[in-house]
Amino acid sequence: MDIRFNFPHQVGTELECIRDALEQGVLAGDGPYTKNSSEWLEGYLGASKVLLTHSCTAALEMAAILADIKPGDEVIMPSYTFVSTANAFVLRGGVPVFVDIREDTLNIDEELIESAITSKTKAIVPVHYAGVSCEMDKIMDIAKRHNLIVIEDAAQALGSYYKGRSLGTIGDFGCFSFHETKNIISGEGGAIVVNNETFIERAEIIREKGTNRTRFFRGEVDKYTWVDIGSSFLPSELVAAFLYPQLQHIDQINDERMCIWNGYHDALKEVSFTHNVRRPVIPKDCVFNAHLYYLIVPEPELQQKMLSDLKRSGINAVFHYVPLHSSEAGKKFCRLGSSMSVTDALSSKLVRLPIYPGLTDSQRSFIQSTAKSIIQDF
Ligand SMILES: *Cc1c(COP(=O)(O)O)cnc(C)c1O
Repeated sequence: MDIRFNFPHQVGTELECIRDALEQGVLAGDGPYTKNSSEWLEGYLGASKVLLTHSCTAALEMAAILADIKPGDEVIMPSYTFVSTANAFVLRGGVPVFVDIREDTLNIDEELIESAITSKTKAIVPVHYAGVSCEMDKIMDIAKRHNLIVIEDAAQALGSYYKGRSLGTIGDFGCFSFHETKNIISGEGGAIVVNNETFIERAEIIREKGTNRTRFFRGEVDKYTWVDIGSSFLPSELVAAFLYPQLQHIDQINDERMCIWNGYHDALKEVSFTHNVRRPVIPKDCVFNAHLYYLIVPEPELQQKMLSDLKRSGINAVFHYVPLHSSEAGKKFCRLGSSMSVTDALSSKLVRLPIYPGLTDSQRSFIQSTAKSIIQDF
């Protein structure tokens, strides 16, 4: 067997939509498929404004500009995340301040945020790891009391909820990814949700190279010009044409992932108790999208052993993240806002299993039984 760690799932009508876009003769950004996708997302999320971007990285960069991050401004976030969470702010001269994560969800530890706040703090960036929500009530309360902007890195969290609210719609901004490794994909792709309405007009300008082109197309101004800083953050119509049918199949896709997730979770229940392996924890206020399945093994040596044993059986499993505070750029551009004990212990113990709709039933049970026998061998 050779089971890939990820395979970009297609719903079947992507090419048809791309052909339709070609026939309509609109290939640049903000054509009909972009409009349909962003309106679909607004309805699905219950958000007032969603703008498609060419990646979640781009959405985070837009959020950093909108939050008016200036050189020296501090932004509180976890170290256990993807580089773009921090890099977007470093590009503006901002300083990411890392706070440790919770033992259970591996999300930012909300109890440590307040003591990392200084007079330079401008924003908090909660990352909803694995599609499971951070403790948003507490984070929003801290932000309100200290007058901070909240940018949700919801890259992994489309289709997840916190107390009934869609992730990405709780902070001032929410950033989603449609990278081929996420649940809903367009190769590369993303979206920014602008929840704080005072930022909508500027968001449109920044996304369109600093011009008021969007207002021009709505007929609100009679010519468009350069009015602010910005860049080209919008995706091509071809990308949006791939994305649109994917969005419409979100329930099917997430149900399929949940089925695989539950299969692993049940199959590995007993062996993880007897061999001291930790499975994911989903707090009761959270509905999640089964974005990824991970195990935490008791010793760092067992991580490499498990990964290579899986590989020998033809199962490609991986770990992540190298904590940003221990990376070369992280040391240069960021600082610590708390101890990193949970973060430091974690990344050498985490193992992720393949999870995507294309996995066949026999592949799923093979992964379950192989993982189980490897753990029994610990
Ligand atoms: C995938 C991911 C990103 C980056 O998304 P892109 O669309 O690839 O730019 C950012 N943050 C987190 C937490 C991610 O998982």
